[in-house]
Amino acid sequence: MLPRLDRILTLSVGRPLTALLSNTPEASVPILMYHSVSEYTGPPCHPYYRTDTHPSMFRAQMEALHAAGWRTADLDAVDSAAGARRFVITFDDGYEDFYHSAFPVLQSFGYTATMFLPAAYIGESNLEFDGRRCLSWTQVRQLQGMGISFGSHTVTHPKLTQLPAEGLRREVEDSKASIEHHTGKTVAAFSYPYAYPEQDRPFRRRLDDLLERAGYTLGVSTMIGRVSARSERYGLPRLPVNTLDDPPLLGAKLAGEYDWIHAFQSLSKRLRAVS
Ligand SMILES: [Zn+2]
Repeated sequence: MLPRLDRILTLSVGRPLTALLSNTPEASVPILMYHSVSEYTGPPCHPYYRTDTHPSMFRAQMEALHAAGWRTADLDAVDSAAGARRFVITFDDGYEDFYHSAFPVLQSFGYTATMFLPAAYIGESNLEFDGRRCLSWTQVRQLQGMGISFGSHTVTHPKLTQLPAEGLRREVEDSKASIEHHTGKTVAAFSYPYAYPEQDRPFRRRLDDLLERAGYTLGVSTMIGRVSARSERYGLPRLPVNTLDDPPLLGAKLAGEYDWIHAFQSLSKRLRAVS
């Protein structure tokens, strides 16, 4: 396996650097970004792009965070969670393995989470997205009854920057309306699919405007980092987690020792934009 450079740097450089630079280490709130909690059966893939977490690793991660005193906050309470060793758990893509493999673990630790649904892939029966089974509306309602929150991850999970204005508006508005119709609850949060167009200011302004007019109160992105007073309401950073995040690395991520990687993420997007 490739040496995991981000792991080595996070534990050997990120930790002392964070300790040195930060006066208020807990003024930021980590939002974890999970996708599938399952056994990976696909082709070899770079650790950075893995979106699966093995069920036994997921349990180990939650166990370690719980033992270290971390408690979950609801996503919509992220602003008031700073400084209280609170973190937020989110899942993208609406996979059914959440129901069987993640939720029981969360429940055993008294943890809550927000699941973001690509609305077109949630049906009366279990549909498939990206080769994995998704939740059904019945399962969504059951989970909601047990404290799980649901947000929008668009209707069809497209690359939003490539859509015409009308298509973008539909992805934002129709997903919210559909989830609200099936759950009977207001959808407050939006999760941006694929790489967040961090440097595309005009697009972000258009999107923020659409989100606000549709009635969303916050949005999460794939930008790496933790939420602070400086974060933008519709582009909150998250910490990606997968099966290679053993408890020491995950603990370091929550403590902010992974935030340095955002500079590289941002730089590589800038380089791609000019090439
Ligand atoms: Zn997604």
